[in-house]
Amino acid sequence: MSRTHDPAGVTVLRGRVLTFLDEPRGRDDHGSYRYIEDGAVVIGGDGRILMIGPFKPEAAAHHKVIDHRPHLILPGLIDPHIHFPQMQVIASYAANLLEWLNTYTFVEEQRFSDEAHATRIASRFFDELIRHGTTTAAAYCSVHPQSVDAFFSEAASRGMLVVGGKVMMDRNAPEALRDTPQRGYDETKAGIGKWHGKGRALYAITPRFAITSSHEQLEMAEALAREFPDLHIQTHVDENLAEVQFARELYPNLPDYLGIYERYHLLGPKTLLGHCIHLTHRECEVLAETRSVAVWCPTSNLFIGSGLFDHDRLREHGARIAVATDVGGGTSYSMLRTLDEGYKVLQLRAQRLDPLRSFYMMTLGNARAMSLEDRIGSLQAGRDADLVVLDSHATPQMSLRMEAVDLLVNELFLLQTCGDDRAVVETYVMGKPMKSALET
Ligand SMILES: [Zn+2]
Repeated sequence: MSRTHDPAGVTVLRGRVLTFLDEPRGRDDHGSYRYIEDGAVVIGGDGRILMIGPFKPEAAAHHKVIDHRPHLILPGLIDPHIHFPQMQVIASYAANLLEWLNTYTFVEEQRFSDEAHATRIASRFFDELIRHGTTTAAAYCSVHPQSVDAFFSEAASRGMLVVGGKVMMDRNAPEALRDTPQRGYDETKAGIGKWHGKGRALYAITPRFAITSSHEQLEMAEALAREFPDLHIQTHVDENLAEVQFARELYPNLPDYLGIYERYHLLGPKTLLGHCIHLTHRECEVLAETRSVAVWCPTSNLFIGSGLFDHDRLREHGARIAVATDVGGGTSYSMLRTLDEGYKVLQLRAQRLDPLRSFYMMTLGNARAMSLEDRIGSLQAGRDADLVVLDSHATPQMSLRMEAVDLLVNELFLLQTCGDDRAVVETYVMGKPMKSALET
């Protein structure tokens, strides 16, 4: 199967190659993607894609060939909103967001002052992402700089492109989880200096949300955003009605919840806003005008009972939309499970989410939402070789159902509806097989 004596270290992956070219405009928009039935992804020794195209048998004479037929080879899945310190919070029983935060999350996150604990969980976090085919995530760390170091160290040891940052939070949380405006600023700035742009690490300015940040702290976040204008900013907005009311009470002179971040100049094309469920008309307009990204977290919104994301309303406003797990409010690391629940949320709103659009969102769509589409999210020459290999026959029931599946879109819909980590055969990071390495 494979040949050595290839000084350039080229690897050829053979399989059914699928990559998106643009946002699909419907279930039959065949121009939105490229699909090669017997395809090859040719990866250079530097971990970047050299080319994709039909598989050529003569490739085996010169290069190492890994044959993934009959599985699908796609760009690695991207999760633009997740909390790594919440791995041991997932599946916590609570009535609503504020109870869930105070009873479980704000207790658990205190453990991340311990560097050994932070390192252990960060390691398990990236293993879990790889197991689920996710190659890039934008994550919240805890308030402690140790958690940021653990996060980026473990990502670097796996060669993963990740976005993350220490949460800034100086009120409405236990004392052990509070920084101060100055400390939040200093620790964020130190984290940026230590990690941003090192290897594939990208630091995100991360005020947790307006409820846990004072006016002075948001001013500090604003100062950081001004000093480091190319950085991502991540926060939460309009998730839950009680949270919205509390945020508005804390900032009574501002028009609405999003208006708080607007006031501190924290909105823009690299701002990732978790949830965006209960937006006013004005907030939808501000979101679209600033090119900020609404990050939809369907499993979390259902689990916590926050509400049903209004996908079509945001699209009509021209807003940018991403989709994410939000573990541990979210209940699965799997982007397949996430889009399955997303589909059901939109069914309840009498809106459609076709499978082409789902798979676009998990890959190129989320890459675009994170302004990373020149590096990840599609299979083409020059992109980083972050890939996932999916098996539509992963379980007996999927295999049986596949007997009656004739079209690629229906196969994708089956993967989304019934698939999970069992459907992930392999995950490649910069051309290196990572999932199989976990299992040996
Ligand atoms: Zn979140």
